[in-house]
Amino acid sequence: MSAPVLTAVAWPYANGPRHIGHVSGFGVPSDVFSRYMRMSGNRVLMVSGTDEHGTPISVQADQEGLTTRELADKYNRVIAEDLQGLGLSYDLFTRTTTGNHYKVVQELFLGMWRNGYIVPKTQMGAISPSTGRTLPDRYIEGTCPICGYDGARGDQCDNCGNQLDPADLKNPRSRINGEVPKFIETEHLFLDLPAFAESLGGYLSGRTDWRPNVLKFSQNLLGDLRPRAITRDLDWGIPVPLDGWRDQPMKRFYVWFDAVIGYLSASVEWARRSGNDDAWKEFWTDPSAQGYYFMGKDNIVFHSLIWPSLLMGQNGTGDKGGVPGSFGTLNLPTEVVSSEFLTMSGSKFSTSRGTVIYVRDFLRDFGPDALRYFISVAGPENQDTDFTWDEFVRRTNFELANEWGNLVNRSVSMAHKNVGSVPRPTAPTAADEELKALSRAAFETVGANLRRSRFKLASSEAMRVVTAANRYLSEQEPWKVKDDPDRRDTILHTALQVVQDANTLLTPFLPHSAQKVHEALGGTGVWAAQPQMIEVTDLDETDRKYPILTGDYAGEQASWQSTPIEVGRPLEKPSPLFTKLDPELGETGPEWAPIVK
Ligand SMILES: [Zn+2]
Repeated sequence: MSAPVLTAVAWPYANGPRHIGHVSGFGVPSDVFSRYMRMSGNRVLMVSGTDEHGTPISVQADQEGLTTRELADKYNRVIAEDLQGLGLSYDLFTRTTTGNHYKVVQELFLGMWRNGYIVPKTQMGAISPSTGRTLPDRYIEGTCPICGYDGARGDQCDNCGNQLDPADLKNPRSRINGEVPKFIETEHLFLDLPAFAESLGGYLSGRTDWRPNVLKFSQNLLGDLRPRAITRDLDWGIPVPLDGWRDQPMKRFYVWFDAVIGYLSASVEWARRSGNDDAWKEFWTDPSAQGYYFMGKDNIVFHSLIWPSLLMGQNGTGDKGGVPGSFGTLNLPTEVVSSEFLTMSGSKFSTSRGTVIYVRDFLRDFGPDALRYFISVAGPENQDTDFTWDEFVRRTNFELANEWGNLVNRSVSMAHKNVGSVPRPTAPTAADEELKALSRAAFETVGANLRRSRFKLASSEAMRVVTAANRYLSEQEPWKVKDDPDRRDTILHTALQVVQDANTLLTPFLPHSAQKVHEALGGTGVWAAQPQMIEVTDLDETDRKYPILTGDYAGEQASWQSTPIEVGRPLEKPSPLFTKLDPELGETGPEWAPIVK
């Protein structure tokens, strides 16, 4: 019996639609991995949702003239639709504004609190001298103490990207009325990170199989652990469940604190919706369960240091000891899988600079599988990688359409025309056996790479089978052996067998076209299952409804092995698998694409 696998996917922030850089970091890699794990017989729980608290949501809501909740509702739906369109096979894609999430965050906090890993500290906070009211971080601007940028906000600098404390700003002023804020002492709660230094060091020293960039980055931070604020003076967030705190309208958990707990809360929500409230435990408290976390590199610290600290604090296994909280002893991440950035002309995608390609535009014009393939084979797996239309067109036309689409098309077409069904093989030659052995062996090599989240190698190895099959057909020339139908049928049977194997190998990357190939080979039923969007009622606030993504992946037929293709299965004339793109698109991009100079 294979181990239960938790696939924990970074939570997209709901202040706008997501671009292809976002989904190349957290989205496609986590889905390729999960689909492979399911096909290999593992029980998989893949969870995520939209991250909906914090300052940027409030700022965007102001700009759009909406309440924070209305804004979160709007982009939660947009993002969920895009991720569904990409075919990301979440068991649950939910959100951080659910009643369930609030309860789980507060409960996990209390476990840490009781074990002494949360410490109150006073720091300087701003008030408006004219009204005496608290001035939230985002309403203060000034000069960044790090880069000198003049429009830095109290919580972060948009120029250099650093998180700031408003008391550090030079020439601070209120964005509401321009007055100079007065700084007074305000109390906040801090995660006592230094109290995990030894435990984290021990944990990280056992992570030798992580990607080197993730491990090195995390270990470098170990030497400088400082208490980190988990509350903020902000009215949009989750209340702190302590006397003297819970009724203060301006004291809320910091957005990073509640969002990272979402992996657990989404698992609990999934269990509650499944009818077995304890079903999440198989993925969290069973010591044999494995947890894989997928994100872009700007999120490494939250997953390799901070989330393990929160878990150890709840478990009572930090340097100060303690007892397990109400969730029991929760598993730490098995692996933190981080991608680098997908860039455009060397820069990060940026909405403000207009260098952005939204998922929705891309899906509408090119469909999901071409993007999934590009991200898998040419994405930012281990270094920042430029997206160019030229390379996208080239990979789509030459690798997907010419190589893979054409192999499927000519194999099925010839068998359909000459036999009408999957032909019966007779005496196979060495060349036939060699090709079949190659495709059978690929299950081990491609699978080994997918288990290690080496998507480039895995997709390239799978495509090697396709290339070999095309070469085989060119050499055997079944269209020329008209006087020897037995030989012709044996060649076509071999080709169809390898098409079926290659389709299985490519299913994690290309689940939509895999379903089509399955049908072109005469198969019926669901080969690769797709996520569904359904409207549900909040489990704790029954007057709220929201969309979730979920799916019946246990019912799919795709399985990670070579299975003999069924002789005599009727074959129809196939339709093309991929549409070739106009080569000119490679130079200009589509009309809606950003112009980058
Ligand atoms: Zn700055």
